[in-house]
Amino acid sequence: MENTRIRIKGIVQGVGFRPFVYNLAVKHGLKGFCLNDSEGVVIEVEGDPTAFVEEIRNSPPPLARIDSMTAEKIASNGGFTGFTIRESMSVDGRSVLVSPDVAACGECLEEMLDPSDRRYLYPFINCTNCGPRYSIVKDIPYDRPFTTMAPFVMCPECGNEYHDPSNRRFHAQPNACAVCGPKAWLHGKPEAGVNYEAISAAQKLLKEGEVAAIKGLGGFHLACDGGNPGAVQKLRERKRRSIRKGVQSNKPFALMAPDVETIRSFCEVSAEEENALLARQRPIVLLEKKKGARTVADAVAPGNRRLGVMLPYTPLHRLLFHPEGLFKALVMTSGNIADEPIVVENGDALKRLSGLADFFLLHDREIYMRVDDSILRMDGKTGRFIRRARGFVPDVIPLGEEMEEVFAAGGLLKNTFCLTKGTNAIVSQHIGDLENLEAMEFYKETLRNLKNTFRADPKIVAHDLHPDYLSTAFAHEYAAEHGIPAERVIAVQHHHAHIAGAMAEHNLIGGVIGISFDGTGFGEDGNIWGGEFLIANRRNFQRAAHLKYTRLPGGDMAAKEPWRMAVSYLAGSGGVDSLKGFRQRIGPKAGIVEEMAEKGLNSPFTSSMGRLFDAVASICGLRDEITFEAEAAIELESIADTDETGLYPFAIIGSQPLEIDAAPLIRAIVQDVNRGTATEEVAGKFHNTVAEMALKVSMRLKGVYGINEVVLTGGVFQNSLLSKRTKEKLEAAGFVVYMQEKVPSNDGGVSLGQAVVAWERVKGD
Ligand SMILES: [Zn+2]
Ligand SMILES: [Zn+2]
Ligand SMILES: [Zn+2]
Repeated sequence: MENTRIRIKGIVQGVGFRPFVYNLAVKHGLKGFCLNDSEGVVIEVEGDPTAFVEEIRNSPPPLARIDSMTAEKIASNGGFTGFTIRESMSVDGRSVLVSPDVAACGECLEEMLDPSDRRYLYPFINCTNCGPRYSIVKDIPYDRPFTTMAPFVMCPECGNEYHDPSNRRFHAQPNACAVCGPKAWLHGKPEAGVNYEAISAAQKLLKEGEVAAIKGLGGFHLACDGGNPGAVQKLRERKRRSIRKGVQSNKPFALMAPDVETIRSFCEVSAEEENALLARQRPIVLLEKKKGARTVADAVAPGNRRLGVMLPYTPLHRLLFHPEGLFKALVMTSGNIADEPIVVENGDALKRLSGLADFFLLHDREIYMRVDDSILRMDGKTGRFIRRARGFVPDVIPLGEEMEEVFAAGGLLKNTFCLTKGTNAIVSQHIGDLENLEAMEFYKETLRNLKNTFRADPKIVAHDLHPDYLSTAFAHEYAAEHGIPAERVIAVQHHHAHIAGAMAEHNLIGGVIGISFDGTGFGEDGNIWGGEFLIANRRNFQRAAHLKYTRLPGGDMAAKEPWRMAVSYLAGSGGVDSLKGFRQRIGPKAGIVEEMAEKGLNSPFTSSMGRLFDAVASICGLRDEITFEAEAAIELESIADTDETGLYPFAIIGSQPLEIDAAPLIRAIVQDVNRGTATEEVAGKFHNTVAEMALKVSMRLKGVYGINEVVLTGGVFQNSLLSKRTKEKLEAAGFVVYMQEKVPSNDGGVSLGQAVVAWERVKGD
């Protein structure tokens, strides 16, 4: 007699796969067993498994993703008496895909709000279809002893559910209840009780305008009543995450609202946006503010036409809004100081967040992997990531080909790193700006963890061309530590990485016109690039066109003070005095910076598109200084008249590379501003003009290289008006346009591109 051994790979652990297989085997009257190993799920059955296999393939559990399924005949060594689920096996050197964290499912939430249920109002309810995963998994295979649920011993009732194949909690590793599971409490206030009692007490304090530090799924949030202007202002004053010392930041706070209907009272929500809000990843979705709505305090997102909103994703979050009508929206911003990573540990929170929060809602389920909320905006039906983290990581990105393992260290700001394994890329969660030790520690611990869970030990290293980035230094350290020779340590130009990342996502191999409109990236000539047109494949590129160099007066300071870029661009067009009132507005420092720009003192050359946006924002009188990255560009987009169809002039000069001369554009804007044209109109025309630059240059390049595929990437394309206009124009002219969907177009997407380029260079022909 023969048995059949079936191997299934993909996201098959922590998603209720074994109970599903068990029930199916019973249904088909099959005997045998199944188990998790460190590669996936293994099933062995007696008898004809055809219909059984078919059903697994066609209707797997909702959270599962089957990447491959193989069946082989093996000799039978004695009969089985029934079908069982066996203990997990670990197989060294192999990997299994760990599931991202999943929002509480409808069934669990229903139980939680049912007074007759034994988990009534229990804030850690979960089942095989929902709950924490990536944030609690310490090792594979995914089993309770390898998660931070290990210290909680299941009570008999939970144990029965766990062992009952007909139960929704059969082998649900984080299964728990109020008797045996994690607890929530208010720090220093034992009289407030635990779990929902503590949450109720927290609600009262939030209602009174206090700021809470709330331990969540992947880290702490700082929370306050989003409808209370005083509370929001207080949090804003305390948070001080401004990039300018001593100045309060306008960086938008994210909101959490109880349901879509409530969100509609203060934001426009399209059908696609509703789907994104309700998706099991529960990201923060950027939504247009509803005109005239007064539900949410202005200080939540000043000067921004959008609000970042999410729905509750853990049972604890859901209970913050129970009973109904208590809050329309809570501010839920990352619990961190300045640019440090989000805090995950109770003791650390009490230490670091004490100056920011009035009280602490803690719990005792350890967060093993910190993971921030994801942020995306909808572009029609397509989601565009601003930040990719909770709910999405560690989902893999298919590469379409088998690669040797690569470690790509990523960039400086909005850092992620990337590992490749087989035919997949694993892009880490958003780590943040690698500018301090804490961020670097978070980076290293995440790398250790992902290397371990994916059993990856890369012997190829990629990093940014910039010699001074902490990620570059770390890449060299890593290479030295692992004895990796110099020819397998690959420096990748920043904008080539942006473009190659987008190419990998869309499986593009051959030459493309890669347009990278960006803030800052180290160029091959040592200048600061960022308005780039590269004729690129995955290995190499040629710089075919760029925004004409201008001075960056004061270097890094110029990125924080848009008026400096205004001086630089004015000096290169009609002169600083051509703009009425500008010199008076800026004061004597305008003259100093003008001289710096003219003489090139501490003023490197840049072709950055981000800096052109800054210059225009300042010339319009919109913003001379910023408090967070890209603030001026966001405001320019926010006020732009989207019905405007006019264009400003610009020139394409030079050859190999072509240069876009913005001087005619600046002169025309100055004229408009001088004659009092509405800023909305100027901003609208400016956006159209930048899109037109992309079109005109692409047409010139198509004439030379015969390439029809255009990739749009870089931080500036986070601007939805610009990306929409550019795509429309290019498509109308017959180009095929590609934009990123799986990783952000900002620097969070650079690591994927680095990995792809490095592999192409190392593998040779
Ligand atoms: Zn559930
Ligand atoms: Zn229990
Ligand atoms: Zn970049």
